Amino acid sequence: MKIAVISDIHANLAALRTVIDFLHAESITAIACLGDVVGYGPFPNECVDLVRRHCLLTVAGNHDYAALERLDATAFNRYAREAIQWTRLELNQDSRRFLAALPLIVSQDQICYVHSSPREPHDWNYVFSGSTARECFHYFEERLCFIGHSHIPVVFSQQQGATLGTKVPLSLREDRYIINVGSVGQPRDGDPRACLAVYDPEQALLTYHRLNYPIKETQAEMRRKKMPEFLISRLEIGR
Ligand code: ZN
Repeated sequence: MKIAVISDIHANLAALRTVIDFLHAESITAIACLGDVVGYGPFPNECVDLVRRHCLLTVAGNHDYAALERLDATAFNRYAREAIQWTRLELNQDSRRFLAALPLIVSQDQICYVHSSPREPHDWNYVFSGSTARECFHYFEERLCFIGHSHIPVVFSQQQGATLGTKVPLSLREDRYIINVGSVGQPRDGDPRACLAVYDPEQALLTYHRLNYPIKETQAEMRRKKMPEFLISRLEIGR
C-alpha cells in the first residue's frame, strides 16, 4: 500500500485541498502529516480540520507548538512571529485540542515520522547537509525516516549522501534513508508548486509530486487578513 507523506501545510488551504484531491484521484488513502499544519497562512482551522479527517497519523511541528504557546516565538523572524500571533487569536478550541495532542515523533510499520530531526525532535534542528544527516542516522532504528521543517525536498541515503530527483529508488536491505518531503503550503526550493512524497513499499520507490494550486486564492485571503506582504509574495516564487 502506497503511503503519501505531506508536511508544512502552513494554513494554506488551497494547496492542501489540491494535494488531497490529487491523492484521492490516485486512490492513495494512507496519508501521514509531519506537522506545521498552521503558521504563516490564512486558514489554520480549515487546514487542521482537513488533516484530522484525512491523515492517519500526524506529528507536531514548531509552528504548531508556537501557536499553542508551547514554544516562545521570539526566535522566529518578525514575519513568522506576526503570523503566529494572528494564528493564536484565530485558532478555535477544536483545533487547539487536536494540535495539543500531537506527538513529536512516531514509529509505525518500521518507518519513523518526525517534523524536524530524529535527533532531539524538541530542539527543532534543521537537516540541511549530508554531514548533519549522517549524525541523525544514529538517533532512529528504522530504515526510513520522513522529515519536513526545511521546506526543501531531498533524500539522504546513509551510504550515498544527498540525492535529488523526482523518482528515487530505495535499497532498503542494505541502506537507510532520511527523506525530506518538502512543503505543501510554502515551498522554498524555488518551485512554488505544492510538494509531497509518495512511498511505494512494493516497488521500493519514492516519488515526489509537484502540483499547481491556485496561489492567488491564498494570497488574496492573506491580503484580506492583512498578513505580512513578504509572506504573501514568497508563495509565488517558492522561496
Ligand atoms: Zn514549516
